[in-house]
Amino acid sequence: MTPLPSPAVPLASFLAASGAGVESARAAGWLALAGAAVVGALALVLPRAIPAWLRAAPLADGPVRARLEALAARSGIVLREVLTWRSGRRAQGVAIGWHRRNRRLLVSEGLLQRFDSGDAEAICAHELGHFAGAHQLWALLATIAAVLPLAALERAATALGARIGSPGLEWAAIPLYLAVVWLAVLPRLWRRFELEADAFGAQVAGTERYGDLLRRETAAGALRGGWRHPSPAHRIGVVEGIVHGGAAFLAGFTARGRRVRLAIGLWSAGALAAAVAAVM
Ligand SMILES: [Zn+2]
Repeated sequence: MTPLPSPAVPLASFLAASGAGVESARAAGWLALAGAAVVGALALVLPRAIPAWLRAAPLADGPVRARLEALAARSGIVLREVLTWRSGRRAQGVAIGWHRRNRRLLVSEGLLQRFDSGDAEAICAHELGHFAGAHQLWALLATIAAVLPLAALERAATALGARIGSPGLEWAAIPLYLAVVWLAVLPRLWRRFELEADAFGAQVAGTERYGDLLRRETAAGALRGGWRHPSPAHRIGVVEGIVHGGAAFLAGFTARGRRVRLAIGLWSAGALAAAVAAVM
């Protein structure tokens, strides 16, 4: 997994915007930019704060560490640190950071106990896939893009409500916008990123081993789809796509990833331009 921005960030900025009763477009623009700045600051702080919060320590020298370092080198991913933390029985790998100076791979103690070094390597190959796709950065950018239009949307809905004789229209428009973005658009992006990490992991760890791990975990009930996670069938489907479709499958899969990033880029640029225009 890669830590993704919480819905609390845009919600807090919306509440701040409405609570302050923003009247001018300029103030609304500043608020939107401040919301974006908060999310940006989180991007700088989280790669340090999360390991500190977990009290993570460097993974001891040994066969697992050597194997993970070799995996990273083979994948072309430069890591700052490989850490572990006392997780109890929780088996989890976490990829934090987006740059060689702050990329930290965290492997829980539970993971090291439950899986042999081959499976641990396959799980970490998935985590490296989050680094390779710069998922944390794109997720933050998408969150900023979602936060930026809130203040402008509230003003537009308020003005429209006054014009068509439905005061308080913003109280319907904003929750609707948040619901669409946080329940439909962003979760789709998170699920896409998980599949990209699977595609990377399967290529680096080997499709046979990676697919085998997914199937075993699914049979054990340890893998479940959800709001942020694709269904096991979908994940196994990506691995099988690589096995049977080869380069053609990967070309289509990669092209889709580029389109997703182009959409995030355009959405953020438009939202940023609107917020800057409002404060000028
Ligand atoms: Zn993941």
